[in-house]
Amino acid sequence: KISAQRRDQSSREQANLDQSRLELVEALRGKGIHDRRILDAIGRVRRDAFVPDELKEAAYHDIPLPIGQGQTISQPLVVAWMADAMELQPTDHVLDVGTGSGYAAAVMSLLCATVHSVERIPELAQRAKARLIAEGYENVSVRCGDGHQGWPEHAPFDGICIAAAGREIPAALRDQLVIGGRIIAPLGNDRSSQTLYRLTRTDEHQFKREKLGKVRFVPLIGAAGWDEGH
Ligand code: SAM
Repeated sequence: KISAQRRDQSSREQANLDQSRLELVEALRGKGIHDRRILDAIGRVRRDAFVPDELKEAAYHDIPLPIGQGQTISQPLVVAWMADAMELQPTDHVLDVGTGSGYAAAVMSLLCATVHSVERIPELAQRAKARLIAEGYENVSVRCGDGHQGWPEHAPFDGICIAAAGREIPAALRDQLVIGGRIIAPLGNDRSSQTLYRLTRTDEHQFKREKLGKVRFVPLIGAAGWDEGH
């Protein structure tokens, strides 16, 4: 009897989370996200599975949340915005720099062919990998390493999403983009606010640069980013 009660309670909790996810989709629509594929993807990915247990109830608020190791899961609006700016096609191959919880990788995986995601903190990379497998995202691969190097074995990529802020876009990442491909990255010198940019590779040596708006990201640690603890 107790286990039947627990089952009832957990299916009620799941129904509440599902309802909150639909409300999040409506909230994003109200904030200017109109692409049906992106809204569908946000409506399918269980963000509650990507946050710590004690934060599940807040999982569908449109805010970043702590995921441990001083890092955050991105705000859903920013994930949707970056995916939109990358103009992902179902045949595209994407590099995701800064896996964090794996949530953005999961959302993008529903919009393209493959996602290769790199995270520098081993605990986060392991947790994200396990979660993505448990949630059934078979076209996402996660590797622990320095995102400045990209993932040369799987390059070139049609889209590169950099989910941590630096002063400039690492050269190796530019080199791993196809001609016509898009890099979305927060850039700036200020820790509290950066500008989100889209760089489109127009030929072998040229990139078109567009400003998309103001954002706030955790730092990209290493050569082109900030030093740890700085
Ligand atoms: N988009 C992720 C999500 O939805 O959970 C959140 C990304 S979080 C804002 C940024 C991540 O970038 C952190 O997990 C951080 O450890 C990682 N990071 C910072 N510098 C990095 C680097 N050089 N290489 C790889 N990952 C890095």
